[in-house]
Amino acid sequence: MGDFNQAVVIEAIRRAGEALSRTELAAATGLSAQTLTNITRRLLDEGLIAEAGRAINGPGKPRVLLRLVAESRYSVGVHLDPAVVTVVVLDLAGAVVARRLIPVGSPEPGRIIDEMARAIDALIAEVGVDRSRIFGIGLAAPGPLDEANGTVVDPPMLRGWRRVPLRELLSAATGFAVALEKDTAAAAVGELWTRRGPVDDSFVFLYLGTGLGAALARDGDVTRGRTGNLGEIGHIVVDPEGPPCACGSRGCVAVTCTPQSIVAEAVRAGVLSAEGDDDEPGALEARFAHVCAQAEQGEAAASGILGRAARCTAALLVVLTDVLDVERIVLGGPFWGYVSEVYLAEISEHVQRLSATRALREIPIDGTVVGADVGAVGAACVVLDRALTPRSSTLMLSERSDVPVAP
Ligand SMILES: [Zn+2]
Repeated sequence: MGDFNQAVVIEAIRRAGEALSRTELAAATGLSAQTLTNITRRLLDEGLIAEAGRAINGPGKPRVLLRLVAESRYSVGVHLDPAVVTVVVLDLAGAVVARRLIPVGSPEPGRIIDEMARAIDALIAEVGVDRSRIFGIGLAAPGPLDEANGTVVDPPMLRGWRRVPLRELLSAATGFAVALEKDTAAAAVGELWTRRGPVDDSFVFLYLGTGLGAALARDGDVTRGRTGNLGEIGHIVVDPEGPPCACGSRGCVAVTCTPQSIVAEAVRAGVLSAEGDDDEPGALEARFAHVCAQAEQGEAAASGILGRAARCTAALLVVLTDVLDVERIVLGGPFWGYVSEVYLAEISEHVQRLSATRALREIPIDGTVVGADVGAVGAACVVLDRALTPRSSTLMLSERSDVPVAP
């Protein structure tokens, strides 16, 4: 891989979602017939594309159709979450072909990395694919991350994970190259890859995990910021009258919108007993799910708590969209499924009413198309994305002169 035009051709077939003729490819990529003939021959030789019959369009020679060979290459995605590690294998088309969940229990880093490596080996054996056909491993972890050193800095609810050189350790344990990515950014890459929206797709992704984080997709690409930590939004104030935060402010996202703060509020309101261990990730999720179930059954105090959290989340989204002026808002992450109905109903009205661009347009707000595994799937997409998506950085390195002109 690594050839810009080759990536352009693969991307065009992948985005089309169907087999294309060389004529259609020429129209989609702007490449000359001669260049396309050379590239498609190389991709056919490498088994990344295959012929998929012929199309007859009026007089003249029938056109050979070319399709992506989904089972020709794979990538692995791993999501480190305080409660559960998710491992998936994706094929070249981005479909999940194998999946495994590992409950974290006691979060000792060495043991968890060993278990990740064992699960990866088992899944590769299950799919029955040669290791040489795997591009690598994408690893999504809670931010902030030290990208240069491949370490998680101080992830919430993962005791013992301060400054763990995760990228190096997992690479040593598996023999694969590892791309470490913030879970929020990985989720946004997963959304871009899976939805296959317009090439200039732009959105804010609000990730509901143990903490809340945001990611930004701009012109079809995820923007990571100077240190790769764009979207650390925990201390944006969304309710000036809200509860005090450890940072010294009141009503930060961290104390109004997170699962932990919602559970704490439910304890104060008597919806939950004070006996649960809310510093234990599995227990936290069960107690959060209980509050959401109560709200769904119409229990007034629980509904009030979720409604308030939704309005604080809406206040956050107004800040983000006012600053970033994106096309749409996407929500997802491990805790999203519990609140999606309440939030979609509450949030949209507030965002449309308070947004700076309200007189111009409505901002579409949706749940992610990827589902609950968005962190792991997104991490695997990061690897596919790096291997296959044409980038101007690749173009700078390319010595070819017949590069396509952007439409
Ligand atoms: Zn704060």
